[in-house]
Amino acid sequence: MDRDRIAALRAAPVPPAQHLIDGQSVPASDGGRMDVHSPLDGQVFTSLARGTAQDAEDATAAARRAFEDGRWSGLAPAERKRILFRWAALIEANALELAVLGVRDNGTEIAMALPAEPLSAAQTIRFYAEAVDKIMGEIAPTPPGTLGLIHREPVGVVGAIVPWNFPLMIGAWKLGPALAAGCSVVLKPAETASLALLRLAELAQEAGLPPGVLNVVTGEGATVGQAIALSMDVDVLVFTGSGATGRKLMEASARSNFKRVYLELGGKSPNVVFTDAPDLDEAARVSAFGIFRNSGQVCVAGSRLLVERRIHAEFVEKVAKAAQALTLGDPLDPATGAGAINSERQLAQNLAFVEEARQAGRTVIGGQRIRSDTGGWFMEPTLITDARPEDRVVREEVFGPVLAILPFDTEDEAVRLANDSDYGLASAVWTADLSRAHRMVRRLRAGVVHVNTYGGADITVPLGGVKQSGNGHDRSLHALDKYLDLKTAWIKL
Ligand code: NAD
Repeated sequence: MDRDRIAALRAAPVPPAQHLIDGQSVPASDGGRMDVHSPLDGQVFTSLARGTAQDAEDATAAARRAFEDGRWSGLAPAERKRILFRWAALIEANALELAVLGVRDNGTEIAMALPAEPLSAAQTIRFYAEAVDKIMGEIAPTPPGTLGLIHREPVGVVGAIVPWNFPLMIGAWKLGPALAAGCSVVLKPAETASLALLRLAELAQEAGLPPGVLNVVTGEGATVGQAIALSMDVDVLVFTGSGATGRKLMEASARSNFKRVYLELGGKSPNVVFTDAPDLDEAARVSAFGIFRNSGQVCVAGSRLLVERRIHAEFVEKVAKAAQALTLGDPLDPATGAGAINSERQLAQNLAFVEEARQAGRTVIGGQRIRSDTGGWFMEPTLITDARPEDRVVREEVFGPVLAILPFDTEDEAVRLANDSDYGLASAVWTADLSRAHRMVRRLRAGVVHVNTYGGADITVPLGGVKQSGNGHDRSLHALDKYLDLKTAWIKL
């Protein structure tokens, strides 16, 4: 990575941002603005339009007009594909700029942000661009004298509400398949991670995406997000974020037009280490990475470590060492292994979880705020080595660098503890026993089971949760189904 270029981008002033509605950069309808604080130093470095319900309605109306007049949905698939490819190329050409802007806004370490944010977004857009002219209908095996055609049509206007961790990656997981299907979109980024997504949308215009097809409205969830969720003109709502917000979105759908709501929510993912793991040092290193990268602000973070009792003490020591080996520093230094906490509020929540564990007499390694001299929000990797199943830190998502560790004695007990959660997003099992690995894949209730690794995925495979981790899937060709409706043509021959 080019350190001089990063330094220049970090020092560059960021002009006050506005919404993107109908291809125009516009302020909030009431002129409202909100400050953007950087997690790196706690300082305000720019501001956003504080959107109103009216702004969300204007954006939805623009998306509806764009959809109905066919300026995108009616284009030849090959043309849509060409524009999406051009967009992916522009994202790649501007990758470092996008990554640094994103880090200044949300605090993720640049070593992770560059590949996981702009570069992964470009790959996602390209993946779905390639699918544009491969979406086909079907002919059903109907009785003689009839013809049953199954058309696949774009659903219409999509509302997309996304969180602050990995805004470009997660944003692209929604935008790629929605735009490939021919839909128009109203996107609502998180309050603390809007800037890079606004820039991404500008690049889409530059690539030739017609105005009104992709609209971005910034501001508060309770105002802008709620207005999108309640809109009578949004056909499908796709969301990544917390369960508390997901619940409100489903209510809003029921209170408005029954729009379909797809939720990608949180997790409390179990990482199960058996004594026969092929390489305990590797398991410890990857397990530490699986919880502490991006300071634990990862939906699939392996935040519950279940260790076979015989190796519990030895393994905890190895994980603690691996955590200590992570470089904690300036998120814009490419050598930094874990960046900032996104907001002061999130940092306070993380510390409160740790304090509660301490008060309950649990053993805590780490657990402190660090680098406070920078003015930024940083926390050291934290292990709670003797957590109990009933502890809040075991049951609830912290969304910070906090690992709850529990021992187990048998495979059945490991499965019981692992599945004893409201969540079911990710999981992992470490074992050299092939049969046990396959048994665990079947028995763990989660959207993904990693075997002898943690994390790692690809655009070709779906990401989704069971139980209260959600009801939809991002990534893979399956994601296209959320943005396509089936229509039957029944014809008498
Ligand atoms: P959040 O629910 O607070 O916010 C997410 C988005 O919803 C933001 O844009 C926010 O402005 C908006 N919002 C908030 N209140 C709203 C309301 N009343 N109506 C409409 N919109 C509203 O979540 P967060 O703190 O930004 O993100 C962290 C959460 O996201 C964690 O739980 C994490 O696990 C989850 N997450 C899940 C995945 C996944 O793929 N399953 C991926 C990343 C993050």
